[in-house]
Amino acid sequence: MINADIRHLALGGKTILGDCKLQLSGGWTAIVGPNGAGKSTLLKALAGLLPFEGKVELRGRELSKWSGRERARALAWLGQNEASTDELLAEEVVMLGRLPHRAWLAPPSAADVAAVERAMRQTQCWEWRARPVNQLSGGERQRVLLARALATESALLLMDEPLAHLDPPHQADWLTLVRERAAAGATVISVLHELNIALQADRLLVMDAGRTVHLGSPEDAATRDALQQVFQHRLQMIELNGQWLVLPAAAPARISNVLPLHGRRHD
Ligand code: ADP
Ligand code: MG
Repeated sequence: MINADIRHLALGGKTILGDCKLQLSGGWTAIVGPNGAGKSTLLKALAGLLPFEGKVELRGRELSKWSGRERARALAWLGQNEASTDELLAEEVVMLGRLPHRAWLAPPSAADVAAVERAMRQTQCWEWRARPVNQLSGGERQRVLLARALATESALLLMDEPLAHLDPPHQADWLTLVRERAAAGATVISVLHELNIALQADRLLVMDAGRTVHLGSPEDAATRDALQQVFQHRLQMIELNGQWLVLPAAAPARISNVLPLHGRRHD
């Protein structure tokens, strides 16, 4: 459903992405890699938000050939640290996700209202629908933004660090939601820093230095090797009941060039 071959993407005269390839149809894919690897930039390119050399095709048709409205219906976007909608009520923010379905200046239809309520109930933010989002905590606001993305009901969901600020129960709820959307046929792509959650995805897309270096299942040893490589072998990986868990590993001890005190002579 999405097929990308991004050969070159530059920002401010600096090359940020080169040689990024992926082909995904359905399921949930987690993009992982070190800080600055280009994960957010790749996600923006997939959403058609940045120009680049190469191509991104959605359902066999180049993204640049889709109208803005068609594209907004086909893919929902949840960005990193979004804060531009502060003045709006939570419900109004989620209704923004329905804009691509509505005629110009038309009031929301019954279907729009129902989609908004469904999405807000799914992310458990329906209770504060009448509150301005700038009065919500970081995690509460994140759930409103997630509801906005869900309310679009698109076949492709792109989310950049969707778990930021979410407590463990809401992280688990997010996992359930994503699995439901994937089971219903959607393609979900999320950038994740939480490797333990990412290792529950159907596939991991591992990035390093502006490139996609590996795409594979968390069960494949090659995927875990790629992770170790891009994180400089600073991960401890443990298998527990068929699930891979990751802990940060301490740096290897440096060999001290200072003589131990008891080795010195004081006479
Ligand atoms: P990630 O999401 O993997 O942490 P990003 O995609 O945000 O990484 O950024 C990749 C690299 O691109 C970083 O080195 C970052 O500093 C750089 N970068 C991001 N946006 C810009 C910009 N607008 N101008 C110049 N460099 C940028
Ligand atoms: Mg990022």
